[in-house]
Amino acid sequence: MTETFALDLSGGPYRLGVIGDPVAHSLSPALHQPALDQRGIPAVYERWHTLAVDLASRVESLRDSEILGASVTVPHKIAVMGMVDEISPAARRAGAVNTIVNRGGALFGDNTDIYGFGVTVSDALGGRTPRVAIVLGAGGAARAVVLALEAAGAAEIVVANRDDERARQLAQDLHPAPVRPMRLDGEFLSRELPRAGLLVNATSLGWHPGETPIALPRLDLLPAGAVVADLTYRDTDLLLAAQERGLKTTDGLPMLVHQGARAFELWTGSPAPLETMLAAARAARLGS
Ligand code: NDP
Repeated sequence: MTETFALDLSGGPYRLGVIGDPVAHSLSPALHQPALDQRGIPAVYERWHTLAVDLASRVESLRDSEILGASVTVPHKIAVMGMVDEISPAARRAGAVNTIVNRGGALFGDNTDIYGFGVTVSDALGGRTPRVAIVLGAGGAARAVVLALEAAGAAEIVVANRDDERARQLAQDLHPAPVRPMRLDGEFLSRELPRAGLLVNATSLGWHPGETPIALPRLDLLPAGAVVADLTYRDTDLLLAAQERGLKTTDGLPMLVHQGARAFELWTGSPAPLETMLAAARAARLGS
C-alpha cells in the first residue's frame, strides 16, 4: 500500500469530492465517507457536478485550505492535466489524472487506476504474472490496465479495439510497454485467445444485460487456468459465461476500491481501511 506520511488534520472540517459530469451515480462518496469516519478524519466527501465550462474554476477552488483533494471522473480526466501544478510520472504516461491532492495550495495530480488494477489482477492471479494478456478496448481505462500489466512484468500485452487506429495510438503513446495493437474481430480472437493467461474487458460494454465485447462461445478458446477480468463493477454476461466454463474471474469493484484506497492515503496520509471501503462499495452497488 502507499507510503503514508504525517499530515496535521487537527483543524477542519475539511472537504473532498468527486468532479465529473455526471456524478449522481458515482460510488465514490459511499466508498470514502465511511473510510474518513472510521479514521476519525473530520471531512465530508461531496459530489461536485462540474460542466466542462466550469472545470478550471472548480480545480482552482481546490487550493483552499479546507479542501484535501478530489477524485476526477468522466469526462475530465484529461482536461485537468493542464490545470494542476505537478503530475506524477505514471499519470503523465497514462495521459490521465483521476486524483488531485491539495498540498498547501499546490495541486498534485496522480492516476490511481493503474495501482487499482495492479492490485486487483495480482490478487486474481495469486501473484502470478500473465505472459500474454489480452486487453479489449483502447480508451482511458485500457491505458491504466496496460501500465499496470507492464509494471507486473507481462511479456506481451495484446490490445484489441473496434477502432484499430486507436489501439495503435495507445501502443505508440505507451512505448516501451510491450503492446501489440490489433483490430477486435473474429479472426484476431481465434488466433490470440488460446495464448492468453488473462483476458480483460476494458471496453464500455457490460453495464447492460446482453452487452458483451466478444461472442461468449469464444471463451471456450481460452486455456484452462486463464483469468477473465472485467472493469465493469457488476456480474457482466462475460464474467458469468467465464464462470460457467470454470474460469476464475474478477469484476471492476476491487479496482474501484483499490484506486480509491490509494487516493485516500494521498489525501490524508492515513492508511485506508480497505475492508470498510470494500463493504461500503458492495452495499452501494447493491443499492445502485
Ligand atoms: P472510453 O470511452 O475511454 O473507452 C471506451 C472503449 O470501449 C473504447 O475502446 C471503445 O472502442 C470501446 N467500445 C465502446 N462501445 C463499443 C462497442 N459497441 N463495441 C466495441 N467496443 C466498444 O472509456 P473508459 O476507458 O474510460 O472506460 C471503459 C470502461 O471501464 C467503462 O465501463 C468504465 O466504467 C470502466 N472503468 C472502471 C473502472 C474501475 O475502477 N472499475 C475505472 C475506469 C473505468 P472504440 O475506440 O472503437 O470506440
